[in-house]
Amino acid sequence: MKNTGIVPQYYVENDHEPIISRELYGQVQEEMARRANLYNSKGGKKRVYSSRYALSSIVYCGECGEIYRRVHWNNRGKKSIVWRCVSRLEEKGSDCTSETILEETLQNGVLQAINQLIEDDGGVNRAIMQNIETALAAEFDKDMSEIDREIELVQRELLHYSGAKQNEIAEKLYRLRAEKQEILDYNISRENKRRRIAEINEFLKEQMVRLEEYADKLVRKLVEKVTVFEGYLKVEFKSGVEIEVKV
Ligand SMILES: [Zn+2]
Repeated sequence: MKNTGIVPQYYVENDHEPIISRELYGQVQEEMARRANLYNSKGGKKRVYSSRYALSSIVYCGECGEIYRRVHWNNRGKKSIVWRCVSRLEEKGSDCTSETILEETLQNGVLQAINQLIEDDGGVNRAIMQNIETALAAEFDKDMSEIDREIELVQRELLHYSGAKQNEIAEKLYRLRAEKQEILDYNISRENKRRRIAEINEFLKEQMVRLEEYADKLVRKLVEKVTVFEGYLKVEFKSGVEIEVKV
C-alpha cells in the first residue's frame, strides 16, 4: 500500500546501484558547468558552445577575455583560416586590439606546448604535476562520515514528531542534504581532476618522442585552455601544468 503520509516517510540513501556511475555524473556536471560558463570574463554576453574543433571554446583572448572563433579569411583574394577574438568580430567599436592568428600558427603553438610537456626539459612539469597530485590525494577529500551520521540522526528524529515540529526537522534534513551534496560535488571534482592527471600520465608514459603533427583528438584529451597574448600563447593542460610558447 502506498504510504501517503499515514506513517512517516523518509529517504533511504545508497540503497541501490546508481543508474549512471558517480564518475560519469561528475564528468557530465563538470562539462555542463564549463559550457554554461562560456561568458566573457568581464561579464559580457553568453557564447554559444561549439565542439566542432578541439580548439573551439577553449581558446581565449588574453586582452579582453572573450573567446576566439575560427573564421574563413579572404584578404584580397588570398584565402586562409584564422582565429579571431569574438569581440573584434561582433562588436562595432570594440577596443580590443588582440591579434588575429593563423590557424596553422595556433595549432603549431599548441603542438609545441604538448611537445614541451612530453620532453619536460629539467623535469619541471613532472614536479608541478606531482605537487598537484599530492594536493589532490584522495586522503584529503572531505570526510562524509560526519554528515552521514547527522543525517541519520535527524532522519530518526523525524519519526518521533508530527506537525510543525516535524516540518522543522524536515527543513533541517533538507539543509543537511544540500550540504552533503556540496561535499559530494567537491569530492567529485577532485576525483575528476585526479582522473585527468592519470590520463595525462598515461599518455606521457607511452609518448616518448616529439609529436610531428597537430591532432584534434589529442588536444581534446590534454588541453584545458589556450590564451592568446601578443607574441605568445599560454597553454593550460588538464593536469594543471601551464606552458607558454612563442608564436
Ligand atoms: Zn579580445
